[in-house]
Amino acid sequence: MNIPGYRPYWSGKEIEYVADALNTGQISGDGYYTQRAAALLKESFDAGNVLMTTSGTHALEMAAILIGLRPGDEVIMPSFTFPSTACAVMLRGARPVFAEIREDTLNLDPDDLQRKISAQTRAVIPVHYAGIGCEMDKIMDLAARYKLYVIEDAAHAVNARFKGKYLGTWGHFGCYSFHGTKNYTCGEGGALLINLDDEQLLATAEEIRQKGTNRARFLRGDVQKYNWVNIGSSYTPSDILMAVLLAQLSEVERITLQRKAVWQYYFSRLKDYEEQGLFRMMHIPEGCEPNYHLFYVLFKQAAVRDQVMKELNSRGIAATLHFLPLHSSPMGRKLGYRPEDFKITARVGECLLRLPIYAGMTESELDYVVANFAEVIEGL
Ligand SMILES: *Cc1c(COP(=O)(O)O)cnc(C)c1O
Repeated sequence: MNIPGYRPYWSGKEIEYVADALNTGQISGDGYYTQRAAALLKESFDAGNVLMTTSGTHALEMAAILIGLRPGDEVIMPSFTFPSTACAVMLRGARPVFAEIREDTLNLDPDDLQRKISAQTRAVIPVHYAGIGCEMDKIMDLAARYKLYVIEDAAHAVNARFKGKYLGTWGHFGCYSFHGTKNYTCGEGGALLINLDDEQLLATAEEIRQKGTNRARFLRGDVQKYNWVNIGSSYTPSDILMAVLLAQLSEVERITLQRKAVWQYYFSRLKDYEEQGLFRMMHIPEGCEPNYHLFYVLFKQAAVRDQVMKELNSRGIAATLHFLPLHSSPMGRKLGYRPEDFKITARVGECLLRLPIYAGMTESELDYVVANFAEVIEGL
């Protein structure tokens, strides 16, 4: 049996919506489907303003431009993240400053965040790993005390909550991803949530997103023609992709419930093996309502993780490692970091194993994964 690590879930409406977008001929940015997708996100998650983007990476880049990051500025983030989080900052000439994660959630440790704050710190980017929320209440308090912007990297965390409030709506900005590997997807896509109530900031965001023009105001009929008014780039997704996304967003509950069933199946079936002490499973802390983006186990030893991964892969199961810590990457070393700078992060990078999880995973697929996982563990 061959079991992929992830697989997009098609509701069936995608083709209908795409055909409709193609037929209307309105396929560039900010057409009907883009507006519908943005409105649906805003309403469902009680967000400030939502601007659809070409990717989660681009949402992060837009936020970095919007807060006016400059050379000399510092932005604190975990090292345990995807390179986009750091690249968005470096593209402005600013410096990513890494902080340690918590051992239990693999999310930014607020205590270490506080220790890393300097006179140059302008912002913090918490990353909600696996759809489990960072301690946003503590992070927002710290940000208020030190006058920092908070940009949530909520790429994993669309439709997940912390203390009842949707992730991506806690910070001043929230960045979503609809990449093919994420829960709700259009292949490549994202959204920037602007939760600050600031008309000028929103107008600027629209300009940056529309190649430095005031085209958004023109489309609303506020101005007669549009002109070059700011710096910017091309961050507007095609309406064809937003048609796919709208179909996905209308099935958010179904997709989430199916993922939840997979997650819970693993959690209950692997408990006995966890008690043998070789690994611990991911768990859901109090106050977190995840979107079941990932299921991972953390082994005590890197060699055991590698062996289990290899065995499962050879049996057709795409069990995979995840983020290679940024601080010990070739780029992180260029920034002056050494592998030993973040012990928890380094260990998690070496010891974490993700099991396949996707909506529509069948019982026989699940059984196959669990049976093989059990067999491999028993045979160690
Ligand atoms: C997927 C991901 C991104 C990038 O999103 P794209 O839509 O692929 O650009 C950024 N940060 C994290 C933590 C991610 O997992």
